Amino acid sequence: MIRGARDIKVLNADESILDKISEKIKEIVNKNLSYLRKFAGLQMAIGSCNDLISFFYIVLSVQLRLSSVITTASFVTLYYYRGRSHGLLNDIASLLSYLKEFRLSYERVDEIIGNHFDKEKFGRIKVDTLKGNIEFKNVSFAYNKNTKVLEDISFKIKANQKVAFVGKSGSGKSTILSLISKLYKVNDGDILLDGYNINDLTKNSIRNNMSLITQNPYIFNFSIKDNFLAVKKDATLDEIREVCKLAKIDDYIMSLPEQYDTKLGENGVIFSGGQRQRLAIARALLLKTEIILFDEATSALDNETQQEITQAINNLQGKYTIVIVAHRLSTIIDCDKIFVVDDGKIIAEGTHKELIKKNKFYKDLYMQEL
Ligand code: ADP
Repeated sequence: MIRGARDIKVLNADESILDKISEKIKEIVNKNLSYLRKFAGLQMAIGSCNDLISFFYIVLSVQLRLSSVITTASFVTLYYYRGRSHGLLNDIASLLSYLKEFRLSYERVDEIIGNHFDKEKFGRIKVDTLKGNIEFKNVSFAYNKNTKVLEDISFKIKANQKVAFVGKSGSGKSTILSLISKLYKVNDGDILLDGYNINDLTKNSIRNNMSLITQNPYIFNFSIKDNFLAVKKDATLDEIREVCKLAKIDDYIMSLPEQYDTKLGENGVIFSGGQRQRLAIARALLLKTEIILFDEATSALDNETQQEITQAINNLQGKYTIVIVAHRLSTIIDCDKIFVVDDGKIIAEGTHKELIKKNKFYKDLYMQEL
């Protein structure tokens, strides 16, 4: 919630978010109350048991003493031991309460890290440098069992091509990028990278060879330079400036009073959305990953920023495999191949010129923008 505070403000969603938080707090308070009620009940039961045992103990001891079975000294000693056993019962009650508290905490931790993330599984084949060929073979995928997001998708992207996925919002384009970077496992079909099944490759073979630039990239709360050093420890300032020039962000950084030593704040708040994306592009370039996956921001960037991002991407054309999820068709006209996605299926593919001629759906999408 704290991280999203800016979005919450912009969306004017303070009230609904506060309602949500209140609901959560109520839930926690109720859980705690029911636990305290149970614990109080348990303590009362144990206390009553203790009193009852004490009562019977005294009656029995007096009886035994009167009939001279035990001496007064034994009576006192036994009474002392009764106190010890009383203490033991109390200890057991506390232990039970600790166990209950532990279970509550465990449930909360498990809610966050337990069932919601599938444990990632990787293969054993190690490939240091992928060329950048990507193939989907009859891939189907669903985030949850009931709703299929992608259905029987097949396509090929050759190394160093620049391709784009276009289609209406919610058609499954960003999901394709998540699957290429193996954030999820497909339900059916295969994804091949340079001919290797993605499930057979080691984590480093996949992740060290691709960068995913999301719509709202996360920027570390460090200086600009340290943001780069965080991904490549031994990068020199010259190297960093070179990639920033390619990503069209160097001029802006040099205009800041502290230049590359400027502190960026929590999630790069001092940068605009477009600048954050360009910084993320530069970060990807520094890593020199063969495959660059780029999820174009849906938010309306101003024309100039948009053009600069397009230019930054164009600077890379031919040297990297670039896969773009495009929300504006004007930025991807020169792609080697464009895939048209609708409702989780690829309904057409070709260059911009070919698609304008042969595909009405694409033509309509393009015309909507003009
Ligand atoms: P696009 O990029 O074309 O706008 P997405 O791939 O983001 O579409 O989303 C496709 C569908 O999958 C949408 O219906 C969306 O609500 C759903 N979806 C996306 N991400 C998730 C997720 N993490 N969990 C569950 N459903 C998701």
